[in-house]
Amino acid sequence: MPRFKKRDVTAPTLNYTLRGFRIKDGRLGLAGGISLTVVWSRALPDEPTSVRIHRDSLGHWYASFVVLSRAEPLPATGDVIGIDWGVTVTAATTRDDYDLPHHEHGKRSAEKLARYQRMMARRRQPKGKAQSRGYLKAKKQTAKAHKKIARQRLDTARKWAKRVVRDHDRIAAEDFRPKFMARTTLARKAADGAISATKTALIEMSRKHVRDLRLVHPAHTTMDCAQCGARAKHALPLSERTYTCTVCGAVSPRDKNSAHVMLVRAGLNPDGVDRVRLVLPQGGRAA
Ligand SMILES: [Zn+2]
Repeated sequence: MPRFKKRDVTAPTLNYTLRGFRIKDGRLGLAGGISLTVVWSRALPDEPTSVRIHRDSLGHWYASFVVLSRAEPLPATGDVIGIDWGVTVTAATTRDDYDLPHHEHGKRSAEKLARYQRMMARRRQPKGKAQSRGYLKAKKQTAKAHKKIARQRLDTARKWAKRVVRDHDRIAAEDFRPKFMARTTLARKAADGAISATKTALIEMSRKHVRDLRLVHPAHTTMDCAQCGARAKHALPLSERTYTCTVCGAVSPRDKNSAHVMLVRAGLNPDGVDRVRLVLPQGGRAA
């Protein structure tokens, strides 16, 4: 069923295309004789084709411009990397230097968030009654805490993605899809959010710098052996941190095995990847 957002509970947005806006002397002019002073976060790289004016949950107004982007190819490195997403580490990769630990900096913000959320719950008035000033204040603080966590997450994600994209020509990553609606723990939800932000950053960065990013379907990636391709009969329980192959006897940390499976599934030659080097019985290298 289609779901409609109520107008009085959503933040307002306005879209203007080519003839609806104009930038002159650093000011933004909108159709209807509106003129705005804009605080520019950075210079526009090109003529914008449209602008979206929107208000966030904190009541701040933003103008986002749509600009045709130009690819900025980076020099080839000859390296490949496989990436698996997880809870304990946001990204486990085939090269240890590029693992992204689950950032703890969200911890203090998360505690703050929880406090404000409790405050909101305590001060909430029953439905139909006007909310108190204290409730609205707590609501605003909750939104602020949320925003801070999101910003920290985005910053970490972008820095990591930039490093990965800069140092690798070809990237294989799990095509993670978050299950926000599933009944999960708070830690799982936080991890899902971090993974989503990181995956998006990786996709954007790969596109910008013209790298070959391959997204791998997540099914069975924790069950397959990266060395021989055999599939385990049962999924590993989350508590089991080591993958042991019953066919070839390969033993490796669980998330490292999955990261290698990404490479194999994406059809990227694991040559040049730390530690693992597939060698065929004839002595030839695996393609
Ligand atoms: Zn095996």
